[in-house]
Amino acid sequence: MPETEIKRRFAARIAQVKPSMTMAVVDKAASLRSQGRTIVDLGVGEPDYETPDHIKQAAVEALNQGHTRYTKNVGIDELREAVVSKLERVNNLKYNPSQVIVSGGGKHSLFNAMMTVLDAFDEIIIFAPYWVTFPEMAKLTGANPVIIETKEENNFEPDLDEVADKITDKTKAILINSPSNPTGSVFSSDTIQGLVELARKNGAYLISDECYDQIAYDKQPVSPAVYEEDPEFVITVQTMSKSYAMTGWRIGYAAAANDIIKNMAKIQSQSTSHPNSIAQHAAVDALNGDQTFLKEMVIEYRKRRDYVLERLVSIPNVSFSKPDGAFYVFPKVNDYFGLSDGKQTVNNALDLANFLLEEEGVALVPGDGFGADDHIRISYSTSMKELEEGLDRFETALQKLK
Ligand code: PLP
Repeated sequence: MPETEIKRRFAARIAQVKPSMTMAVVDKAASLRSQGRTIVDLGVGEPDYETPDHIKQAAVEALNQGHTRYTKNVGIDELREAVVSKLERVNNLKYNPSQVIVSGGGKHSLFNAMMTVLDAFDEIIIFAPYWVTFPEMAKLTGANPVIIETKEENNFEPDLDEVADKITDKTKAILINSPSNPTGSVFSSDTIQGLVELARKNGAYLISDECYDQIAYDKQPVSPAVYEEDPEFVITVQTMSKSYAMTGWRIGYAAAANDIIKNMAKIQSQSTSHPNSIAQHAAVDALNGDQTFLKEMVIEYRKRRDYVLERLVSIPNVSFSKPDGAFYVFPKVNDYFGLSDGKQTVNNALDLANFLLEEEGVALVPGDGFGADDHIRISYSTSMKELEEGLDRFETALQKLK
């Protein structure tokens, strides 16, 4: 082998991290579309709404006012103050602006948090079904994800005794995500409080991904940091992406104790620096401005969720737990595994997703990537018309499996 090829080896961490399984379905859907098929996409992970006009306008003004230079590494003062007010108004949390860092999306805040608290070979507890990124991101730091399964019949909430059993002297952090992607589960306040106590007792950090905090229906999510007197070991992560339909703007933030934020800032300053200056100004307007858009979007999502559940009830051999937040339903479909339409046999969720796509042209995300092979994720972040069509196709495809 020529010497240059030996030198061009990738870092060992690359082999540790899995590529996204969901992309396989997305790629296939795109290729079917390019062949002229109409595909109904129930795989979407972002709001099907445009960013509200007043937020766009704030960005235009920021541009016209010349906010085009570097900002503070941790984000502009106005935005950190707006975040503090929002956390108090919506989440009942008390932070001060020096306890907030603004980053390039919630994902970036989570990454800064993990880089700050996790060492190689530390353990981080993650509950399955989990958002695809969690274990892979943890692995990028060298830490080992410890996966604890949750059950559909328990609303996908963790069993606290099981968590206590899984804690070792290597446990450095517990990661939670309520409302959850992919299940839509909103953890009860008892569960949240129990997890805070376990983290406190064992000297672990509690990283709380609250990226869907304002998209909730019957049960309002509780932020774990409400159970801290002063910020100590909970790292609260939120985003502008979902609540304000700002996925492309890339603004998220974290709030935590001063020393945690200072160290997250160190990571951010030596990697990406602050996020986009214009988007930061727009985010101030989103958080401080009129919240009608958000209220109306949640009303619409609730209607769609109810419609999906109504349809699922009448589909045989599919079970589900009623989601209280986010815009996903995560039904269990494993009763269809091993069945065939006479041409192909469906052996797992990935096979089923491929079958649904090829046979009926409906794209859903298989549960494999979320650590839940028996499930499939339906996103209702699409119009009612598309939802009706997509669920018709889902039902028709399942009827073909005998
Ligand atoms: N956390 C969860 C659970 C998510 O589903 C997402 C996006 O899909 C994010 C975090 C990251 O969102 P963003 O980086 O756009 O703020």
